[in-house]
Amino acid sequence: MIELKDVWKVYPNNVKAINGMTLKIEKGEFVYIVGPSGAGKSTFIRLLYREEKATKGDVIIDTTKLNAIKERHVPKLRRRIGVIFQDFKLLPTLTVFENVAFALEVIEEPSTSIKRRVMEVLDIVKLKGKAKFLPDELSGGEQQRVAIARAIVNRPEVLIADEPTGNLDPDTAWGIMDILDDISHRGTTIIMATHNKSIVNTLKRRVIAIESGRVVRDELRGNYGYEV
Ligand code: ADP
Repeated sequence: MIELKDVWKVYPNNVKAINGMTLKIEKGEFVYIVGPSGAGKSTFIRLLYREEKATKGDVIIDTTKLNAIKERHVPKLRRRIGVIFQDFKLLPTLTVFENVAFALEVIEEPSTSIKRRVMEVLDIVKLKGKAKFLPDELSGGEQQRVAIARAIVNRPEVLIADEPTGNLDPDTAWGIMDILDDISHRGTTIIMATHNKSIVNTLKRRVIAIESGRVVRDELRGNYGYEV
């Protein structure tokens, strides 16, 4: 479970990005975060994996207060939270297999179990056949699927996606949604910031709308609600 209790985020340049946000997301939910540019969506997401620290208030994952985590324990937290981005962020000199294994290897697992787990997640994202390819030999949709595999390889409780379909054509975007849907059905909580109106209005989920750093709408099976 994820909980924000009266969270505020003021950047060093005095921009007030999150202004008193309180909300709960239950285990296994799939939530869209929508809102205009500059609303605070990315900041909200960065607070969830401790890329940013709240200026005031609590961000809580299960019983862990993220503000209280020491810097040296942040990597451990990150293994409980998978993250994907609009621009994939794969390591260009590593193969698909290595990009995914890299996320596991930091825990120093024996290599046979690394191999098994990496192939398991490459199967989930339908890329088993491309394990030896380099990122630039893949399409954008395939690269995003590698990023998803890497994000879920440690079996995180939560998968956070910041505009995961932002760089993809509509058909490819739907393919990514099929995979996120599958991961959601396996019990992972998914939080996805998006501008993709047709996805939000078709694949109905809880919608949390943010404007000026505040929640202005929170609906189960909501709509995108903005013109694009
Ligand atoms: P969104 O993702 O909805 O576009 P952001 O969270 O990126 O919104 O931005 C919210 C506000 O915070 C904006 O005014 C933006 O300019 C500002 N902002 C975002 N990141 C930083 C940062 N690292 N330093 C200072 N201001 C920032």
